[in-house]
Amino acid sequence: MLPERTDVLVVGAGPTGLAAAVTLAGHGMTATVVDRLPTPPLTSRAAVVHAGTLEVLDRIGVAAPLAARGLPSTRFTVRDRDRVLLTVPFDRLPSRYPYALLVSQAETEAVLADRLTGLGGRVLRPYELTGLDLDGAGATATFAGGETVRARWVVGADGMRSRVRELAGIGFGGPADPGESFLLADLRVDSALPRDQVNLFLARQGPLVWAPLPGGPVRLVAAVDDAPREPEARHFQALLDERGPARRPDRVTDVLWSSRFRIHHRIASSYRSGPVLLAGDAAHVHSPAGGQGMNLGLRDAVALGDALAAVLAGGPDTLLDAYAAARRPLAEEVLGFAAGLTRLTAVPPAARPLRDLVLRAASGLAPVRRRLAVRLAGFEPTGR
Ligand SMILES: Cc1cc2nc3c(=O)[nH]c(=O)nc-3n(C[C@H](O)[C@H](O)[C@H](O)COP(=O)(O)OP(=O)(O)OC[C@H]3O[C@@H](n4cnc5c(N)ncnc54)[C@H](O)[C@@H]3O)c2cc1C
Repeated sequence: MLPERTDVLVVGAGPTGLAAAVTLAGHGMTATVVDRLPTPPLTSRAAVVHAGTLEVLDRIGVAAPLAARGLPSTRFTVRDRDRVLLTVPFDRLPSRYPYALLVSQAETEAVLADRLTGLGGRVLRPYELTGLDLDGAGATATFAGGETVRARWVVGADGMRSRVRELAGIGFGGPADPGESFLLADLRVDSALPRDQVNLFLARQGPLVWAPLPGGPVRLVAAVDDAPREPEARHFQALLDERGPARRPDRVTDVLWSSRFRIHHRIASSYRSGPVLLAGDAAHVHSPAGGQGMNLGLRDAVALGDALAAVLAGGPDTLLDAYAAARRPLAEEVLGFAAGLTRLTAVPPAARPLRDLVLRAASGLAPVRRRLAVRLAGFEPTGR
């Protein structure tokens, strides 16, 4: 049952809301965590957790159990069909987790939820936030069943279509068109590609990401002009045929899960409005190229949990302004990086040889490879 009052109301028990609640609980602070869904989703969705994120999750006791459930990938490779243009090695990263961890989002959420339970917290379901009245001393949240909760602070971790963001009047502008269209699936494939690396194929028709998942399946993510409503094996086979390896082509044998989505590149105009703080997809969304979205949200969540805990312990609430001011530029950087990866595929045919030359030259330079690895892995300046 919902409490009448709480110090912190976390709206949304996706990876961001769970990580914020675990961080607070680790500091000995209790948050009320609500989600509108009756049970957690079981689908795989975001499938990569990078080393920089694992380092942050280590601080809240989540990295080791998560690593035990995932598949480490030691390289990120950019290809044009059979040609390797650029290899980014993760195995020299300055980390206890020198790899990109391939693991289903359902597993990531389950590990976070287990940790929260271990620290005495839990998620209250199904409670859908429908109203939020803000005042100088906090906020009164209203739920679909008519319940109300008075909170000193409200964390909007309720995803891309955040109700908290909307009710707090925080802008999330962007173009009116429906955004980039993506198809994704977890498949079984006969493939000659090595299973210790994530591959990005730069095809004329758009990017195709190929990533090995624990237990044998492969995750495909492709930008497409028009995604079919119910993607089938033949759609993914066609994508592999037009963009994937040519000499020894992959063969799809089974589709385990598939989906489609459209996405814009957007950032909230501010991460704080009075008692409301935003984190994760509620604060930023962008293309899945580079697998950065959920990672950025997890790192937001730990930073916000630390800041809120310090304020609850008597610190000044300017710490929350510092959170907002520090995290938004990081989202701008990640959006720019994801857009850059997408632009690499949009190069016109005449300029492709030059692009490939530049990538291969970059691949030969150890400092460039190292910088790219650190960038992809999501290491952030300390203190943000
Ligand atoms: C099909 C699909 C595939 C994806 N693939 C990738 C990928 O390959 N790589 C990648 O980086 N990212 C991917 N993403 C995005 C990734 O899933 C998100 O970045 C990540 O889930 C963000 O976490 P979050 O906790 O901020 O938000 P969410 O995971 O969206 O969680 C928000 C939570 O808030 C709850 N909620 C919403 N509104 C309310 C309300 N009014 N009241 C109470 N609860 C509410 C929701 O039920 C949900 O549980 C994918 C997303 C989808 C849908």
